[in-house]
Amino acid sequence: MALSEDESELDNPEAYPIKLVLEHAAAAPETPSTEAVRAKFVVGADGAHSWVRRTLGIAMEGDSTSRVWGAIDFTPLPTSTFPDWRNVATVNARDAGLMLIPREDGKVRLYIELGTEDALPRDARGRPDTSGLSPAALLDIARAVFKPYTLETRLEDVEWWTAYIVGQRVAARFAEKRRIFIIGDACHTHSPKGGQGMNVSISDGHNLAWKIAHVLKGWSPMSLLDTYEAERRPFAQELIAFDRWYAEGFSAKARAKLVADTADGAGVALPGPLEAFLSFSAITTGVGIHYGPSAITSPHSQPESNAESEHHAPGPFALTPGKRAPPHPLVRVADRRPLTLQTVLPADGRARLLVFAGALVSEDDKTCLSGIERAMNGLVEKVGKERFKVVGVLARVGETTTYLDVPAGIREDWTSVLVDAASPFSNESGGAYAALGVPEAGQIVVVRPDGYVGAMAGLDEVQKLEEYLRGWMI
Ligand SMILES: Cc1cc2nc3c(=O)[nH]c(=O)nc-3n(C[C@H](O)[C@H](O)[C@H](O)COP(=O)(O)OP(=O)(O)OC[C@H]3O[C@@H](n4cnc5c(N)ncnc54)[C@H](O)[C@@H]3O)c2cc1C
Repeated sequence: MALSEDESELDNPEAYPIKLVLEHAAAAPETPSTEAVRAKFVVGADGAHSWVRRTLGIAMEGDSTSRVWGAIDFTPLPTSTFPDWRNVATVNARDAGLMLIPREDGKVRLYIELGTEDALPRDARGRPDTSGLSPAALLDIARAVFKPYTLETRLEDVEWWTAYIVGQRVAARFAEKRRIFIIGDACHTHSPKGGQGMNVSISDGHNLAWKIAHVLKGWSPMSLLDTYEAERRPFAQELIAFDRWYAEGFSAKARAKLVADTADGAGVALPGPLEAFLSFSAITTGVGIHYGPSAITSPHSQPESNAESEHHAPGPFALTPGKRAPPHPLVRVADRRPLTLQTVLPADGRARLLVFAGALVSEDDKTCLSGIERAMNGLVEKVGKERFKVVGVLARVGETTTYLDVPAGIREDWTSVLVDAASPFSNESGGAYAALGVPEAGQIVVVRPDGYVGAMAGLDEVQKLEEYLRGWMI
């Protein structure tokens, strides 16, 4: 893989500055086994031993000591006395700990901490040798952890097992000259204890894909691609810090040491693993990710009218620039179907303009909506209709209101008019405006193509949104 050093080529989204030789793993007998290609972009989604990362010479930063984990799937026999097979559980004993995940058909998976790689013998190449481990060895360790309860199974009831070494590390860079990127395990590795690897890897791809698509479509400048590393690397670092604290600070040995270090070993208020997990649930569920200010995340776009609003005491689900737009139940006006806000935020590459347009009950409301439509039409004309979808979210509607009563500039089609109602046939508020921190008078929210809030403005502040969109759209 070779990347051009010609700046004009690198800056031109139409150019193909990467030369790559692909090796076909299973080429047909008379076809060449290698193929030379030129590419505009390369994304290394090639796992923890990433060839792309190594080829770019990107170092992994973090602890030098890696932890060894065993994982095993089996069916416990009914004679086992451990009572909690069907609950997610963390079990800590004096010298070891494990995590239990119930699986389908009565199976369970155990993740077992086996210590650090220093405890393993070395193979001929000097690498930690896990070959001495076996399902029987893992089950023996698990049995010791479960005591005084018993774990009984047969080796033929073991479906799968593995032992692997996990470094808690983050790549020094996630990108090379806005052209080559690494995502997923290629740029961060950590223990399986928080169950985060796949989630975070998919989110990396989600964050990057729409940005590359926008550049390729000619909608955004190359500089948009800088926001990938700027957003995802700090989050990866945060995740590794959580993982270190959660996997090590709450390991059996660390807890035993904490207890032993106190005078009588009693009265130590250690948070339990569940408590610890819940306290970091914002990270583990992904909803707590908060990207910092950038061209695509405006820090100054809080509507001025909100400052005074009692509705905007920012609750945990308030719309906030840099955070994912949270789900909240709403009702679609056209067919009175209940749905959540996420339904109108599919990952189709377009941003969403959520127009919280207030109530549509009286003639005054209609006049007010016409004013909003004029402003929205101006914005859409200037920025380009194909780049975003407009969705109207009303605070209240009258009994005979239909989606056609909403001016066309505040809805794209029949699916894009929603109302904050408690149920399909009720005019009571469903509490979405309040929960999302939207003042009753209304507000416009730009949701980026990856579902994160980019900017917010009052209904009379459309100019602000135009400035924001011009910051990352061509
Ligand atoms: C036992 C275990 C349990 C886990 N449990 C969870 C969990 O509960 N929740 C969770 O979120 N995560 C979990 N994870 C982590 C999760 O599996 C990984 O974080 C995730 O798979 C990373 O995805 P990825 O696409 O970045 O890398 P990978 O899944 O490793 O995919 C990389 C791919 O690239 C291919 N590849 C590599 N080099 C080349 C090359 N040179 N040419 C062509 N192809 C190449 C590989 O064959 C592989 O298919 C677990 C991991 C393990 C090991």
